[in-house]
Amino acid sequence: MNYTDLISAQREFFKTQKTKNVKFRKMYLEKLRTVIADHEKMLYEAIHLDFGKSEFETYTTEISFILKDIDYYLKNLNSLSKPKKVKTNLANQIGSSKIFSEPLGCTLVIGAWNYPYQLSLSPLIAAIAAGNCCILKPSEIAENAMKAMAKIINENFPPEYIHVVEGGIEETTEILKLKFDKIFFTGSTKVGQIVYKAAAEHLTPVTLELGGKSPVIVTKDANLEIATKRIVWGKFLNAGQTCVAPDYILVEETVREQFLELLKKYISEFKYEPDSEQYTQIINQRNFNRLTRLIDHDKIYAGGNFNEEKRFIEPTILHNISWEDHIMQEEIFGPILPVISFINFHQALNDILELEKPLSAYLFTDKEEEKEMFINKLSFGGGCINDVIMHLGNDNLPFGGVGNSGMGNYHGKFGFETFSHQKAVLDKATWGEPDLKYPPYSENKKKWIKKLL
Ligand code: NAD
Repeated sequence: MNYTDLISAQREFFKTQKTKNVKFRKMYLEKLRTVIADHEKMLYEAIHLDFGKSEFETYTTEISFILKDIDYYLKNLNSLSKPKKVKTNLANQIGSSKIFSEPLGCTLVIGAWNYPYQLSLSPLIAAIAAGNCCILKPSEIAENAMKAMAKIINENFPPEYIHVVEGGIEETTEILKLKFDKIFFTGSTKVGQIVYKAAAEHLTPVTLELGGKSPVIVTKDANLEIATKRIVWGKFLNAGQTCVAPDYILVEETVREQFLELLKKYISEFKYEPDSEQYTQIINQRNFNRLTRLIDHDKIYAGGNFNEEKRFIEPTILHNISWEDHIMQEEIFGPILPVISFINFHQALNDILELEKPLSAYLFTDKEEEKEMFINKLSFGGGCINDVIMHLGNDNLPFGGVGNSGMGNYHGKFGFETFSHQKAVLDKATWGEPDLKYPPYSENKKKWIKKLL
C-alpha cells in the first residue's frame, strides 16, 4: 500500500468510530503486550545486531518501559477517558460543564534510534490509548530494531488502524507531505525544524522530543561518592547515546580533584569493556568518526582509547575544558564527558543560561538554597536533584523539552493528553431563561450584568 492509500484507509477506519471504544483500545493494548512477550527474544537479538546492546539493558531501558506503559493505560484508561465534570459559572446557569477527551484522529509517530523500541512504541501506546489510528516510522539507523517492530506490528494489527512504515529520510519526507491530525517526533533539533515546517502546511499539531546539552552541576556540598556513581552510570549507559545523559559537568573548583578521581574509580568498577553486558557500541561509523574527533588528546583525564572495528569508545573524561572548546559547541551524544570547574555557583547558573534551554539539567548538592536557585533560575525540560536520568522513569512527571529541546510532553496521563483533544461542552437547561443578555439593551440590564459578571 502506498502512503496516500494507507492514510486514506486509516481516515476511513477512524470514521467508523471503532477506536473511540475504550474496550477496543484495551483489546489492542493487550494484544501488543502479548505480541511483545511472544517476540521478546527476537527484539533482543535485533537491537544487539544494531549496536551490541545487551539483553539486560534492553529489558531495563526499553522492554520494561513499554510493558509498564501498557499496564498503566490498561489500569487507568477508564478514568482517563471519562468526561471530567467542571464547575459552571453564574452566567451559564442553569447548566453543567464537561471536558471530553477525544482522539485526534490519524497520527504519525517518528522515532529515534538510540532507544528504538521505547521511543517508537511508547508514543504509539499513548496514541492507541487515546483512541487514534497511527502510522509509526521508526529510525532506519537502528535497522534491525525497525524491522523487528515492523514485523510484530504489521503481522498483528490491521494497517487501517496501526501500521509501521520502514524507511529513512526519503520515505519520511514523502510521509510528511500528507495531512495528519498529530505528529509526534523524537530526534534532533535540526530535523525537528523540518517536521515542524511540514506540519505547519496542514496546521497539524506537533510534539517535538528533541535534544541538547544537558548540564550537571556538582557543588562542594554534594555527596561526591553518590554523585559520581550516579553520573558515571547515567553518562555511560548506552555508551552515552541517551538524550537525557549528562552532556557536561560544572564542578566547584574546591572539590574538582576529588570529583575527577571518583569518576575514574567508578568507571573502572563498572567495567565498561567491548562486547560486555554493560556497554554498547557506537551506533555507526559516522557517529564514531564524529565522536573520536571530539576527543581533544591534550585534555584527556581518563580513557580516550577506541577501537574502530568494534565501534568502541572508552568512557572518556576531558578536563581543563573551557566554554570555547569544540566539544562544548554541540550535543555530544556519546561516551565523552567534559568537565569544567567553577568558583561561584551563581556564575555557573549564568553560564548555563547563555546556552539554549536543555532537555535536562541536574544538580548535586545538599544545600537547600542551591536547589531553590537551580530550579528558579534555569529553564529545562526536566531533571533531577542528586540524580541523573531517573526522572523519566516516573510516569507521574511529564517528559519533554522546552525551547530548542522540544515542545509538548508525554508519559502516563501526559501521553494520553498529548494524543487527545480536550473538547469543552456546556449543557444548558431550557428553562429559567433570564432576558438580561438579549436586545434591546438597557441601563437596567447593564447594571444587573455588571453585578452578575
Ligand atoms: P534524527 O533527527 O537524525 O532522526 C530522527 C528521525 O527523523 C528518524 O526516524 C529519521 O529517519 C528521521 N529523519 C532524519 N532526517 C530527516 C529529514 N531530513 N527529513 C525527515 N525525516 C528525517 O535523530 P537521531 O539521530 O535518530 O537521534 C538523535 C537525536 O535525537 C539527539 O539530538 C537526541 O538528543 C535526540 N533524542 C531526543 C529524545 C527525547 O526524548 N527528547 C530521545 C532520543 C533522542
